[in-house]
Amino acid sequence: MKTDDRPKRGMWAPGTYMCKCANCEAVFSGDKRAFSCADCAYNNGWRFIESAPKDGHDILATVAGIGQPVRIAFWDEARGGVWSMWPGREPMEPTHWKPCPRGPSEPETASIP
Ligand SMILES: [Zn+2]
Repeated sequence: MKTDDRPKRGMWAPGTYMCKCANCEAVFSGDKRAFSCADCAYNNGWRFIESAPKDGHDILATVAGIGQPVRIAFWDEARGGVWSMWPGREPMEPTHWKPCPRGPSEPETASIP
């Protein structure tokens, strides 16, 4: 179980309850009302690349640092197990990732009478 002493931020607060992060699903020790682990709260939801799925699905990937671009990348088993980014399938070495957001489930329809 992850423990952390950093001060309260966003949906994170220190404490002794066993919690599950709504972002990365890590089990951590935090406040009874904490919805996020400290790592996620302090990294704006970006997770360390070590936890990214290596199943070929697209992820949002970036390198830590101000002004670094966010790319769509995937674990490229066909190239020997490297992170490749779209477009062009160029290799990259991301440090952080997030799941790709889902698009709208239904087309928007105008309903103004
Ligand atoms: Zn987390």
